[in-house]
Amino acid sequence: MRFGFALRFRITISVRRPTKRSSKPPNAKLSLLMNLNEYQRLIEKIYFEKDSKRGLDKTFNWLVEEIGEFSRAIRKKDKKRVKEEFADCLAWLLSVGSILGIDAEEAMAKYTKGCPKCHHSPCRCDEERNRDS
Ligand SMILES: [Zn+2]
Repeated sequence: MRFGFALRFRITISVRRPTKRSSKPPNAKLSLLMNLNEYQRLIEKIYFEKDSKRGLDKTFNWLVEEIGEFSRAIRKKDKKRVKEEFADCLAWLLSVGSILGIDAEEAMAKYTKGCPKCHHSPCRCDEERNRDS
């Protein structure tokens, strides 16, 4: 009896874990290992043809619209939406970068040595003084 109960309990645990994980897309774990460059290639694979045909101006407008949706999700404190809109904004930004021929990782290299202005990490810049420069 006891053994039977323990076995059932163990089965319940092992069934629950994959169920929790399955709420994410199947490649979610793999995609966590991607670097920014790989994400840009992924977004290009999915959207570059469409986005480049639409053109820079219209695609940039979509990015701005997404940022508006991101802002609304933040104001509503909708955690799930915030995360989704964050991903959408990044996807649109990467796509605009691709249209402009910008390599995202190469562009972000300017931050690898800390703040590009004061060269410290964390930044030591005076926030008010450097806001619009
Ligand atoms: Zn700084």
